[in-house]
Amino acid sequence: MSEFNQPLSGNEMPRFGGIASLFRLPVQAPNDLDVAIVGVPLDCGTSNRAGSRYGPRQIRAESVLVRPYGMATGAAPFDSFQIADTGDVALNTYNLEKSVALIETHFDSVLAAGPKTLAMGGDHTITLPILRAQAKKHGPLAVIHVDAHADMNDHMFGEPVTHGTIFRRAIEEGLIEPTAMVQIGLRATGYAADDFDWARQRGVRVVTAEECWYQSLAPLLREVREQIGPKRPTYLSFDIDGLDPSVAPGTGTPEPAGLTASQGLEVIRGAYGLNLVGADLVEVSPPYDTTGNTALLAANLLFEMLCSFPGCKRR
Ligand code: MN
Ligand code: MN
Repeated sequence: MSEFNQPLSGNEMPRFGGIASLFRLPVQAPNDLDVAIVGVPLDCGTSNRAGSRYGPRQIRAESVLVRPYGMATGAAPFDSFQIADTGDVALNTYNLEKSVALIETHFDSVLAAGPKTLAMGGDHTITLPILRAQAKKHGPLAVIHVDAHADMNDHMFGEPVTHGTIFRRAIEEGLIEPTAMVQIGLRATGYAADDFDWARQRGVRVVTAEECWYQSLAPLLREVREQIGPKRPTYLSFDIDGLDPSVAPGTGTPEPAGLTASQGLEVIRGAYGLNLVGADLVEVSPPYDTTGNTALLAANLLFEMLCSFPGCKRR
C-alpha cells in the first residue's frame, strides 16, 4: 500500500464509471498535500471563441485514460507526492475583475496550506492572479510560457486585464523576473509588426514557432535549465494553443503551424530539474473539441507536469 493517494484503477472501476475527478484521484481540501489540483472555469477574459469555462470538467472526464506511470520517463508522481483534486474556484462569471480577485484569494489560501499548485483553465487570464499569489510566497518567478501568443498586449478593448495582457501586467508588477522567462511557440499574425519586442527589450527569451519547426526541443530546454538554474522558483504556463490546431483544435484562438504534441511533451519533460512551484494548462474550449482529443491531450500534459515537479521519482 502506498502512503499517497492513488488514482482509481481501470481494473477496479471501469474507466467510464466513477467520479470524474482529475486522474480519478480523491477530492479533498489542500491541507496535507504536496500538489493541489485546482480547476478555474473562467472564460470571460477571452477575446474570440468562448467555452474554456468547460475546460476543467472536460479535462477531468478525458483524464480517466491517464495511468499512473510515465512509460518513457519512468516517472511515478503518485508514488512521490500526496496529490488530490481540490475542486474549482467559485468565481463570479458576471465580473472578470472580481473573478480575478477571487482566483488570487483562492490561490493565497491553497498556497498557505503548503502544496504546489497545478491549475486547469479556463482562459489564460487565470495565470495573472495565480502568479500574484505565487510571487507573494516565492518572490519574482522564472517562467516557461508555451503559447501561440505573447499575451503581452498593453490593453485589449481598453481593458488592462484580459487573456492577452497577463504577462505584461505580471512583468510590470514584478511578479516575473523577465531575464528568467522564455516564451515558446509564438507565431502567426500580430496587432503590430513589433508585438513580440516589448518582452524582448526587457530580457525575455522569445522562441518563435518557426524556430521550433522540424526539430527536437530537448536542446532548447537544456539551455533553459542552465539559464534558470535548479533553485530559482519557476512557474510553467502552458496555453494549449501553443500546439498546432491539428492536435489541439478545441481552443478559442487557434493559430496554424504550431508545436507538435511531442514538442509539447519535450518542453514539459525538459522542466524536470528546475524548482517548479506551480504550473497551469489553459485555453481548452470543449465546445470546439468535437472528438475530446484536445482535452485528452491536456490531461496527458497535466500528468507530465506532475512528473516534472522536483523530487518526482524515476523508476
Ligand atoms: Mn495565452
Ligand atoms: Mn494563446
